[in-house]
Amino acid sequence: MPQGMIYKALSGYYYVETEEGQTVQCRARGIFKKRGQSPLVGDRVVFSETENGEGTVDELLPRTTELIRPPVANASLAVLVFSIIRPELNLQLLDKFLVHIEHTGLETLIVFTKLDAMEASEERERIEADVTAARALYSSIGYETALVSSKRGDGIPELQARLKDRVGVFAGQSGVGKSSLVNALVPGLTLETNEISEKLGRGKHTTRHVELVRLEGGGCVADTPGFSQLDFGELGIEEIGSCFKEFRELAGGCKFRGCTHVHEPDCAVKEALEQGAVAASRYEHYVSFMTEWRENRRRY
Ligand code: GDP
Ligand code: ZN
Repeated sequence: MPQGMIYKALSGYYYVETEEGQTVQCRARGIFKKRGQSPLVGDRVVFSETENGEGTVDELLPRTTELIRPPVANASLAVLVFSIIRPELNLQLLDKFLVHIEHTGLETLIVFTKLDAMEASEERERIEADVTAARALYSSIGYETALVSSKRGDGIPELQARLKDRVGVFAGQSGVGKSSLVNALVPGLTLETNEISEKLGRGKHTTRHVELVRLEGGGCVADTPGFSQLDFGELGIEEIGSCFKEFRELAGGCKFRGCTHVHEPDCAVKEALEQGAVAASRYEHYVSFMTEWRENRRRY
């Protein structure tokens, strides 16, 4: 039986692409509903062709990952997009996105955008110093970073190579250049960018479905960004610390199991903070997220 990958789901149909590049429009078998299972974009499936040229999805192959927002199976790389100017870099928000991405277990690539706008800015030197410091910080923690211009094309071929044979998902606040970046990665694609939707006076991605867009040379990216709700609703408070990569690695050295790295004595994270091995910004953001988590709980 033929196999393929679902790259689009729309109005009850699943569009399955085979290795040979053929697309078959499929319905899902009733059995999925009974099992409470639903096929997702990114799913590798076994399907059969029906007489009218359509097909049915018969079986889902095991997923490596499963995201809720956007609903995508088998994504393996989260591309966290942050602009360095308009809007300015916000490391607290960046750390918040990182917590949510760490929670999914996806590999992360942090992409700083709008290099051209920074170079044209009067504040170039200050911003450049901030970006250099941020890249040094996040690579010391173990995150890969890139600095690109979607407008000019700097860094785009490297990013295409990084996404080869993977399913990538974009994340980042509104206006940082996610749609522009996807458009730059896929020649000929024209996702709506913010300036257009502002003119039309309506929000973006309101009634959109998710679709995987194929990259030249292999790999694909979801056309809808993810991780839009950053309220820690799905995380337990003890999980926040383990979503700070460098804290997680140090936590074995804390005296108490389940150490929150705040009030406990003999805490390896606090010791590393004092020695400068953990960045003050990261620790401050961690403490602020713990507070935010507790405040959210109180409200409900
Ligand atoms: P999104 O909301 O994250 O999808 O951001 P958009 O892609 O819609 O971009 C928001 C704004 O930033 C638009 O006005 C874009 O033209 C602008 N923008 C995006 N990427 C770049 C870039 O590389 N250079 C410059 N100068 N502007 C950019
Ligand atoms: Zn600790």
